[in-house]
Amino acid sequence: MRLSKAFLKTYKEAPKEAQIVSHQLMLRAFMINQLTRGVYTYLPFGYRVLKKIENITREEMDRAGAQELLMPVLQPASLWEESGRWFAYGPELMRLKDRNEREFSLGPTHEEVITDVVRDSISSYKELPFNVYQIQTKFRDEMRPRFGLMRGREFVMKDGYSFHLTQESLDEEYLNMKDTYSRIFERMGLNYRAVEADTGSIGGDASHEFMVLAESGEDDILYSDSSDYAANVEKATSIIELKESNEEKLPKELVETPNAKTIEDLANFLNIPKEKTVKAVMLKEILEDGEKFVLALIRGDLDVNPIKVKNAIGASTELEMMTEEECEKFGLVAGYAGSYEKKEGLYVIIDETVKYVRNFALGANKVDYHYVNVNLEDLAYDLVADIRTAKAGDLSPDGKGVLKIARGIEVGHIFKLGEKYSKALNATVLDENGKQQFIKMGCYGMGMSRIISAAIEQNHDEYGIIWPKAIAPYHVDVIIANMKDETQVNIGEKLYNELNQNKIETVLDDRNERAGFKFKDADLIGFPLKIVVGKGAADGIVEVKDRKTGESTDVKVEEVLNFVKNFMAE
Ligand code: ATP
Ligand code: MG
Repeated sequence: MRLSKAFLKTYKEAPKEAQIVSHQLMLRAFMINQLTRGVYTYLPFGYRVLKKIENITREEMDRAGAQELLMPVLQPASLWEESGRWFAYGPELMRLKDRNEREFSLGPTHEEVITDVVRDSISSYKELPFNVYQIQTKFRDEMRPRFGLMRGREFVMKDGYSFHLTQESLDEEYLNMKDTYSRIFERMGLNYRAVEADTGSIGGDASHEFMVLAESGEDDILYSDSSDYAANVEKATSIIELKESNEEKLPKELVETPNAKTIEDLANFLNIPKEKTVKAVMLKEILEDGEKFVLALIRGDLDVNPIKVKNAIGASTELEMMTEEECEKFGLVAGYAGSYEKKEGLYVIIDETVKYVRNFALGANKVDYHYVNVNLEDLAYDLVADIRTAKAGDLSPDGKGVLKIARGIEVGHIFKLGEKYSKALNATVLDENGKQQFIKMGCYGMGMSRIISAAIEQNHDEYGIIWPKAIAPYHVDVIIANMKDETQVNIGEKLYNELNQNKIETVLDDRNERAGFKFKDADLIGFPLKIVVGKGAADGIVEVKDRKTGESTDVKVEEVLNFVKNFMAE
């Protein structure tokens, strides 16, 4: 590509609404253009990066034995009603109507469609297992689309689905995909970690998220400092020391605690440690035909993990906070809530830590009042479970080391779905004994467009992007420093042709601009190598500069090709 003919317009500064580096750099380097919130055009350089990411993914998925196909974006509501997700997916599902008022969605993911295809075509266990995938534009009406390609409303995903008769077969393919994902991210030159993720009611080792480590990540990862344990905070468990107390149990007593709405205030007012208080969190699950209300109690110095509560009660959607009116219905007073008698329609779950606290303080369901000397026996509850948020400093659940925290960007997610969709949509095969069996499924997602953002978050400096070679839009930028100098122009042209003929993706900066302007663009766009054809051209010498190391080498024109080949092979 000759930059004199390119559709390229770089900017010195990014608009204020771009908050993170990758978004700023992508706008400045003319890689994307926003049409509306969370919806972007991939401009030529950005699109080349996307295609490289897609191709690496394709190559590795094919190598792993998966087959590519392409499913429809437009999907009838009736199919989503069958799976129960027309409701459960909530407002994130983009919905529309056709001219006959029939409802449709724009696919946010394709479990429904692929299961429909499979139930139409597969009937015997002999036709299993197989793994199919697609690379396609997805639609999700995200609550907070932001950070450029990081969280779009229209984005490109690789989604794959595998189908099996037995759990062993699914387990095997899951491991195959886990390895394949690792190879893909390694080839892309990214620093990543595979972490255990929340699996809802399925449990076990049934889900991993692939995280690119970066400060700007939206996810918190807890990992052991001395083993390979790593998990999303939502899912992480940990060990904290719980000791039986031999303190004598006292009768509970009502005390006035004016304005002590928080645990901090309460502990200060009563002059007791937070560990001798218990706090209440009021949650609800929104169901198709109403709500399920949940009160969660935990030791005052700890936090409730709503995902663990969700799993403990078998909820299928994320829990939300109860409103003040809803609390009032159950006589729960925000800041002073407790549970002393069974309330119709309110499910009470107690964290296991509460069992170990003697004579604690807990809200009295009355403004400005708490009970002190409360014990487990004084409480009305339905379930004791681990609903605690693990945190840095806790012991790793495998008993090895202490948990530390890091931030990550989720670029991939693999999941053993089991029979969730095949049951809902009745996808079965006959087994060896002629018995109908639900097909077992795995699903494997990877955010193609988000990977662009993640790669930049991890690879940049104050001047611009530093592309890992494998996903750079081009490998080399040949810069003619002075377009009025015939020798420079001739050498620049020669190198440009020679490199491209040797399959090294090269651009020629033959624009009528100052050399300094061209150098800045080269650094901003982040070509791995910059070749400056300048004053040395008269003596047959050019300057080759490595974007990543900053190392600069004078190379004879005849030796440039070899030099670049060696660089590419490194
Ligand atoms: P998140 O927690 O970030 O919302 P998710 O759990 O909804 O992600 P999946 O449904 O597992 O994501 O989708 C598979 C992959 O698609 C994710 O790992 C991520 O890389 C990518 N992805 C998901 N939502 C978006 C989005 N709004 N914009 C860009 N990429 C996305
Ligand atoms: Mg999401």
